[in-house]
Amino acid sequence: RRVGYAVVGLGHLTLNEILPAFGQCKHAKVVALVSGDADKMAKVAHQYGIKPSGCYSYQTYDQLKDNPEVEVIYIVLPNSMHHEFTLRGAKAGKHILCEKPMANSVQECEEMIAACKKAGKHLMVAYRIQYEPLNRQAQKAVRARTYGQTKLIQMVNCQNQAHDQQWRHKKALAGGGALPDIGLYCLNTTRYLLGEEPIEVSAQLYSTPGDARFKEVEENVTFTLRFPSGVLAQCTTGYGSFNSKAYTVHAETGSIKMDPAFPYHGLHLEYVHAPNGKQLKETPNDPMKNQFALEMDHLAECVRQNRPPYTPGEEGLQDQRIMEAIYQSARESKPVKLAAAPRLDAFR
Ligand code: NAD
Repeated sequence: RRVGYAVVGLGHLTLNEILPAFGQCKHAKVVALVSGDADKMAKVAHQYGIKPSGCYSYQTYDQLKDNPEVEVIYIVLPNSMHHEFTLRGAKAGKHILCEKPMANSVQECEEMIAACKKAGKHLMVAYRIQYEPLNRQAQKAVRARTYGQTKLIQMVNCQNQAHDQQWRHKKALAGGGALPDIGLYCLNTTRYLLGEEPIEVSAQLYSTPGDARFKEVEENVTFTLRFPSGVLAQCTTGYGSFNSKAYTVHAETGSIKMDPAFPYHGLHLEYVHAPNGKQLKETPNDPMKNQFALEMDHLAECVRQNRPPYTPGEEGLQDQRIMEAIYQSARESKPVKLAAAPRLDAFR
């Protein structure tokens, strides 16, 4: 029996990616919707065969507790709303899949973890890259030291954010600008590849003066993470430049390049090395799996098998801690040491 999901928020990600992805799931199905727009919801419900009794507003959301068909709630709302809807969802006795970034502060993340723990329910953060097959291959090559010890990592995630009034430009709703939205991919993927936690971060931040998009939230951030093994990772993120979403892992005898690395599809992985003194490039085939279907199926299997997800709330909390240190470093113009954190690493 498939695990029933309620999807909260009918914005771009839900309509264009998440709902269509259920068609490729093996263990998850959508059985309920939650939205502030009843007309839109009725149309979407009809399209996906969801009964009117499976349609909820933000006010009636808590009544999900009386719907046994719903086992997981997938929260796809503006970042500032993740905290409230996780707490209410856990209280309704449901497992939670929460979009990234997990929340807007360390305190909120801690409260979300505590609420799900108290309810005895799983909390997973939707870090889709960790479920994507090519990125997993890259991770395995890094961990297996296929090209020796990793020395340096470069990651970039930039896009020229549309010039409208969307919530992503409001600090209270988004928590920040490029960093928590897309820079987070550089941070989380670096930690994922290495299986280590950074011990220090130094960062710089810049926003173009007079650009209305960046009145409240930052445009550009660069940050360097230093790891116990000695690896230095240089990450670049921006909201005002042309699409660039890629990384290179520089190891002793080869490099692992993913370009693009973070889109929903069309990823490209390349290994560059010189086994006999002659440069060789190897490009594994993209298995082209739907990343959203993979992550939703993963949590569904965790529910059925009663085991914790690979990317639990603690993973989102750790990223939030590091992002707060990144902002601190930029503010104070100096490196910030990070407290030792237990490695949360399921993908060995
Ligand atoms: P969106 O603006 O397209 O949709 C947001 C939805 O929330 C809309 O349906 C909107 O009506 C609703 N909403 C409720 N209260 C609102 C309020 N006060 N202000 C604005 N909207 C409100 O956003 P999106 O791109 O779908 O992003 C939703 C979440 O998904 C965010 O947390 C974002 O970071 C995350 N996201 C993740 C990925 C990924 O690849 N994993 C990609 C895009 C977005």
